[in-house]
Amino acid sequence: MTDSATFTTDEDRAIRASWAKGVLPPCPRCEVTLTHRAIGGGSFGLGYSRKREWLLCPSCKRSVLFDARRGTRT
Ligand SMILES: [Zn+2]
Repeated sequence: MTDSATFTTDEDRAIRASWAKGVLPPCPRCEVTLTHRAIGGGSFGLGYSRKREWLLCPSCKRSVLFDARRGTRT
C-alpha cells in the first residue's frame, strides 16, 4: 500500500452497500459521516450526462467515487 488515501476493497464495498440502501455511511476508519457530493455531467464539459456520486471523508480525506446508476432510475 503506497497510497494511503484510499479505502480497501472491503471498506469500499461496505460504503457502497450502505449507500445503496439510502444510508450515508460513516468512514470505516474515522467513524465520521462521509460528505456526499453529486458530480453531474456537463459541469466539466465532458459531454456526457452520467452522474457520479462522490463520498468523501472530511477527516482522513479518503474518498469513493462511483457511478450513480445502481438502484436509481435512468
Ligand atoms: Zn476517514
